[in-house]
Amino acid sequence: MGNKFEQIPQEPVEEKEEKKVTRRDFLKTMGKIAVGGAIIASGLDKGVEALAEQEKKDPKIEQIKEDWTEFKQVVKESKVRDNIKFLEQTYGSIADGMVFQLKNNLQLFDQLVNEEKNGVDLTNEKNKDLLKASIEEYHTYWDQGFFDETVRKAENKEGLSAKIEGFERIEGMDNEKVQELLEDNFNKRWLYGNTSSFEYVDELKSRKTFDVAGEAHTEGLVGIFYKSGKEKIKIYKNEGMKDEERLLEIMSHEIGHHQDWENSNRLPLQDRLQFLREVTERLGSSDRFHSSYVEIDIPCEYSDYSPQEIKYIQAIEYWAVMVENYDRHGEDLKKNKLEDYELVDKWRGKAIKKP
Ligand SMILES: [Zn+2]
Repeated sequence: MGNKFEQIPQEPVEEKEEKKVTRRDFLKTMGKIAVGGAIIASGLDKGVEALAEQEKKDPKIEQIKEDWTEFKQVVKESKVRDNIKFLEQTYGSIADGMVFQLKNNLQLFDQLVNEEKNGVDLTNEKNKDLLKASIEEYHTYWDQGFFDETVRKAENKEGLSAKIEGFERIEGMDNEKVQELLEDNFNKRWLYGNTSSFEYVDELKSRKTFDVAGEAHTEGLVGIFYKSGKEKIKIYKNEGMKDEERLLEIMSHEIGHHQDWENSNRLPLQDRLQFLREVTERLGSSDRFHSSYVEIDIPCEYSDYSPQEIKYIQAIEYWAVMVENYDRHGEDLKKNKLEDYELVDKWRGKAIKKP
């Protein structure tokens, strides 16, 4: 049920292991990402805005030292290097979109850590710019506080809501009723935190292998900093549409897509890798929840894709199927597949936490 797979824009990562990063290289790389890298367009604009804001503030040396210590702690605790390796081994070049930015940031980070080990004072006039650049990267991509702050500001300004339209075309249903149904059954931040509209489309949509009940339209890694207004859930004409429970299952599944490792606007990048790794590991374990949609329909539908691409789509759909079961059949899932239940509980918890 439902589907969502966008090809992640792929930019070959330039190998610069031997060369030292200079301030000029750093700016050049940022420019390159802005034109065609893994995180592009509006998402990065926000990041650059934030960088500019921070640069303007010109932080005090004590603040720089504190942030640097924090960055080192986060890198150490996040298992990020191990996760990059794991995801590259599992998904090959499909992982590029997920790991590109982090690998890039780690290059400068590692250089500075090495210099520090060799007794270089990173905070003196000669080195301060690079240290500040690294800390800016930390705040933009790694710092939970930055993601929370962005969401907190947006919630204060816009509240938590979404457009709900077209449902009057289902017999016995209307938009107000759907809104009530959704708000009665889902946490508001889960429901609206990264979804701007729920729309009913009164036509059948069929694929090779299955009918599409719902679709998650998201911006993937481009939209990770904020809710842009373009995150849509579309529901298509479907058997059993008039059944409230069926509608809630479909909604739950699609909301799950909006809250995954690519689309969530609550998670720093290193957490997204950990999230994808945990879902991938569940998908590879024999005691996992079996869904014929994930196990049979997806490989069949995407039979001309590479095994790694199919596996990635399976991971995306496995997560959404787990969310659906957690929301609608939570007691059964907890009793029969505790690990899957806890996986959803953990990452859902981060998405609905008050920013
Ligand atoms: Zn789906």
